[in-house]
Amino acid sequence: MKVIIIGGGAAGMSAASRVRRLLPESEIKVFEESGYVSYAPCGVPYYVEGLVPNLDDLVTYTPEFFRSERKIDVHIHSQAISVDVGASEVRAIVDGNETIEKYDYLVFATGALPIVPNESWLNSTRVFTIRHLEDGEKVRLYSKEVSDVAIIGAGYIGVEMAEAMSGIGKRVTIFEMKRVMPVLDQELSGLVKGEMEKAGVAVKEGFRVDSLEDNGKKVVISNGKESFSFDAAILAVGVKPNVELAKKAGIRLGQHGGIDVNNNMLTSVKNVYAAGDNVEVNDLVLQGRKRYVPLAPEANKEGYVAGSNIGGKAIEFPGSVGAAVTKFNGLEIGTVGINEEEAKQLGLDYYPVKIQHNVRASYYPPKGGLTMKVLFEKRTKVPIGAQIVGEQIWGRLVALSLGIQYKLTAEQLFYAGIPYAPPFAPVWDSTIVASRIFYEKI
Ligand SMILES: Cc1cc2nc3c(=O)[nH]c(=O)nc-3n(C[C@H](O)[C@H](O)[C@H](O)COP(=O)(O)OP(=O)(O)OC[C@H]3O[C@@H](n4cnc5c(N)ncnc54)[C@H](O)[C@@H]3O)c2cc1C
Repeated sequence: MKVIIIGGGAAGMSAASRVRRLLPESEIKVFEESGYVSYAPCGVPYYVEGLVPNLDDLVTYTPEFFRSERKIDVHIHSQAISVDVGASEVRAIVDGNETIEKYDYLVFATGALPIVPNESWLNSTRVFTIRHLEDGEKVRLYSKEVSDVAIIGAGYIGVEMAEAMSGIGKRVTIFEMKRVMPVLDQELSGLVKGEMEKAGVAVKEGFRVDSLEDNGKKVVISNGKESFSFDAAILAVGVKPNVELAKKAGIRLGQHGGIDVNNNMLTSVKNVYAAGDNVEVNDLVLQGRKRYVPLAPEANKEGYVAGSNIGGKAIEFPGSVGAAVTKFNGLEIGTVGINEEEAKQLGLDYYPVKIQHNVRASYYPPKGGLTMKVLFEKRTKVPIGAQIVGEQIWGRLVALSLGIQYKLTAEQLFYAGIPYAPPFAPVWDSTIVASRIFYEKI
């Protein structure tokens, strides 16, 4: 049996490894257009900042490892250019030569593409997007020559790149058409903005960049009213599912433009699976909806599920609540589920609880705090969204994420086993307090 996987990132290599484990005799071929497989784009900002010394540190396993240890036929610098699902064939450029390969099973694991408002902006050698490890290398090299850097977009990647650039002493300006970290509601977003400004980053909110020009010396960014010049610009205005190949092959797409898959990660075409940043999955916050969740844990698990099903082990990927976390310097930022803006748009009957809380016993040094906002649905009494900004947020976000995903009521969350000792949490920790406030109120 022959399996072809298009894309050697998290989802693709996870699928490939799973098939190998379940079907030791199968033939597995991976086409990857970049020079790396099994790599961590998530580490790119930290490579640019110099916290990660070598690009290779971001590679979990090399193509050689996959070929020799897992008998997976990995081809880097090889691009799949079309798929004929009727003939079960993939046309690809492999090592510069066009070839056609037959498959029994196919996995689309083509990831996401950075959104580029205007393709001509990329004609400048001073403008960058971040997708592959190679992009990180380009930015790191170029950053040595520049002083003033613009980041366009203050989502996760924009904030991480702003942290990296200011960390290496660049003058950074970040442009965002909404607010910093738009997944956060205004009041928590403001905390992140404050932290960025404290570090010397100029934050331009409500600024929609509608032109970007390279005048031969500088990149000039404008919203039609104001213009600013920079030595370099990083575009980080979001990502979209990379689905052109699948779309041309006649694979059905979903409401968010991602590949439509069932819980086995099977597409609308028999024997053709998809996984990772190119699919949309069940929304586990609000039943019956789909969600586009371009995040690494989801990509790995979806690849695992696709590979398992191909290997004959029928398992399901249930969906996602979209839990995500990042930081700017000492300020940690986490979100899961939906924010208040979205809850209002959806007309949900919710109750927002917002608290500021210590992250350790009040007498235990150092003093540290967080701001937590949790939305509870009034009818079901379950949390539907949470945002945390501050210190030591990871464990609290995990607890709330599980509460949202598994529909624990405020009462169940209040009584949940949350451990305590002075260095780690107050005895009434923020998660318990937020649940109690709602539980007493409603
Ligand atoms: C800067 C940055 C920071 C991030 N930080 C985080 C984080 O902290 N936490 C988190 O959860 N997520 C983070 N992410 C997102 C995370 O990296 C992705 O969710 C994850 O990599 C998705 O895995 P994937 O396999 O679906 O896609 P990818 O890892 O993008 O892999 C897809 C691969 O397919 C290849 N490909 C595409 N088309 C073709 C073709 N036609 N032929 C051959 N090959 C093809 C591409 O070259 C690519 O290597 C970050 C992403 C970036 C860019």
